[in-house]
Amino acid sequence: MRVGLDFDNTLAEYDHLFSALAVETELFDHSPGSKKQVRDQLRARPNGEYLWRRLQAMAYGPRLEEARMFDGVSDFLTACHDSKIEVVIVSHKTRFAACKEFKTDMRQAALDWMYGKGFFSKTGFGIKRENVHFADSRFEKVRMISELDCDYFVDDLEEVFIEPGFPVATRKVLFAPGQTETNIPVTLCRHWKEIADVIISQPVFA
Ligand SMILES: [Mg+2]
Repeated sequence: MRVGLDFDNTLAEYDHLFSALAVETELFDHSPGSKKQVRDQLRARPNGEYLWRRLQAMAYGPRLEEARMFDGVSDFLTACHDSKIEVVIVSHKTRFAACKEFKTDMRQAALDWMYGKGFFSKTGFGIKRENVHFADSRFEKVRMISELDCDYFVDDLEEVFIEPGFPVATRKVLFAPGQTETNIPVTLCRHWKEIADVIISQPVFA
């Protein structure tokens, strides 16, 4: 069995980081809350799209090391390793941010984060380095998921699952912590424990 996973906002969690950056950059006096709240409030401002892109360039670049693993990811990846389930990671991530102010190689930053969390170590999650793929566009990402012949794909964005070319044989698992329903045919999971129950035959959590 082969399981495909998205990276940003699926494995790596940024809410606290966007919250901190919103205040540090003096865009807000106090934290507006989650990543989504920061985004929505910034976009409502003049030049808001630029301000939002600039914060993203910081979070996914020079500050990415501060991202956290979502609760339950570590247990899920350990269970995959123990059960010999192959894990591939497919991320839509350009090498450099659209905001030219930041020169960090965002793909390398993501890989460094994964190394730091034990993704590739034999005593960690034992994922093969060559199983991490970066795509320049959503179209390319979906093509990669198809070529990799994943049994499941887990992503936080519905747009990935409705992109033309998404393979029919790959089961769609939407990771959406705050969401209660969806209008597209996916398995909605709000916690990685639920994802483990769906993908790994017997529940791995007590
Ligand atoms: Mg994502």
